[in-house]
Amino acid sequence: MASIIDGKALSLSLKDGMKAQMEGLEAEYGRRPGLAVIIVGENPASKSYVAGKIKAAAYVGMDSRLIELPEDISEDALLAKIGKLNSDSSVDGILVQLPLPEHIDEDKVIDAIALEKDVDGFHPGNVANLWLGRPCTVPCTPKGIIRMIESTGIDISGKNAVVIGRSNIVGKPVAKLLLDRNATVTIAHSRTGNLKEVCRQADILVVAIGRPGFVTADMIKPGAVVIDVGINRIKCVKEDGSEGTRLVGDVDFNAALDVAGHITPVPGGVGPMTITMLMENTIECFKRKF
Ligand code: NAD
Repeated sequence: MASIIDGKALSLSLKDGMKAQMEGLEAEYGRRPGLAVIIVGENPASKSYVAGKIKAAAYVGMDSRLIELPEDISEDALLAKIGKLNSDSSVDGILVQLPLPEHIDEDKVIDAIALEKDVDGFHPGNVANLWLGRPCTVPCTPKGIIRMIESTGIDISGKNAVVIGRSNIVGKPVAKLLLDRNATVTIAHSRTGNLKEVCRQADILVVAIGRPGFVTADMIKPGAVVIDVGINRIKCVKEDGSEGTRLVGDVDFNAALDVAGHITPVPGGVGPMTITMLMENTIECFKRKF
């Protein structure tokens, strides 16, 4: 039976550590770290992610502001807003919740955030520095994934790691972070042949696809560390018989429990750690200013 990597508990202990530092930071630097979160439009999933980020910022005691902009805001107006935050000395981190409405070019928006305030680590400058092995802001989800793997006590060095999914925000950066820790890394994706065999070689399996229950028990090497990044909302029947929805990951969790050595749940795994790493990144950006 796999042991569950409790992302919620790990997050809480990390956030408590940050909270305990906050007064000291204020005494030393004269103010607290400041995070600005921009949301455009009314996407319910985005709204819930953003609410989680603001709540976490309040918990650790940093200054945060939520900037809610209408769905039809022009690209120029959004870029101007970012420009203002770039020059606001009380703001250390700027996050623009993605996805953006179709009429806005996401690349332009990411590029407009000052490199030193890019707490998501999506700016091309941060991406380049990550791949060059230079100091940078590491994207939150991959950073949280590494912390969760490390929390198992398993030494990543020399292990076979398979990452399914090649997105810029999860798959590619987490592969680089695993490589930095001397894992032998395979990035699998929608065109990978013999995916099952590839996955079965993995001592560490990171799954970031967006397909409910895609990874089945027969794809997992016995004893592997399985990190389920997927967030999928599926229909279900509630206890009272009514129809509802619930969140599931990309891994068939119950079946995987019998095979894996360690596994993250959904919800309560990678999600909370992503938010906690955002807090950590904001504090790092703040400290780098002084
Ligand atoms: P994406 O949605 O941009 O791309 C999906 C990836 O999955 C692609 O690289 C594709 O090659 C791969 N893929 C699709 N079908 C496949 C198949 N049949 N076999 C193998 N590979 C396949 O990726 P993303 O943005 O990294 O998101 C992936 C999932 O992770 C989504 O469910 C998303 O909601 C979730 N996510 C969670 C967090 C978190 O904090 N927990 C953060 C980011 C993303």
